[in-house]
Amino acid sequence: MRIGQGIDVHAFGPGDHVVVGGVRIAHSHGVVAHSDGDVAIHALCDAILGALALGDIGQHFPPSDDRWRDADSRVFLRHCASLMREHGYALGNADISIVCEAPKIAPHAVAMRVILSADLGCERRQVSVKATTSERLGFTGRGEGIAAFAVVLLTAA
Ligand code: MG
Repeated sequence: MRIGQGIDVHAFGPGDHVVVGGVRIAHSHGVVAHSDGDVAIHALCDAILGALALGDIGQHFPPSDDRWRDADSRVFLRHCASLMREHGYALGNADISIVCEAPKIAPHAVAMRVILSADLGCERRQVSVKATTSERLGFTGRGEGIAAFAVVLLTAA
């Protein structure tokens, strides 16, 4: 078995929606990002890459590369899932925590699990999505941005 963790943060900026866990959620702001700025998927990708000791998402999808401008982050996740399989591993489980004051994440958690498990090629029960605020403390508490933390366990396939 191999374990990996990933963290991602994006600042809120102009816009009317955010994309989190592959789900488009209406919001008073968008996120500042080169891709679609999906913190949940970026953290999850880094957790998978970390478990495989294959660097990080920035090395695989450099922000300097125009191919990834406004990219659907699900492309990144499917790539990481295929790397996992190529290296002889299957997903045991993934657990993702999303931190923000708004928008509300919980109503979308099941939809995120459906999307993420489809891209990972696993069962929905293997993917957990949780959400919390930071009690108005720090950058997430001030509504300046959104953060996500992910942990994965990979098992030898
Ligand atoms: Mg990111």
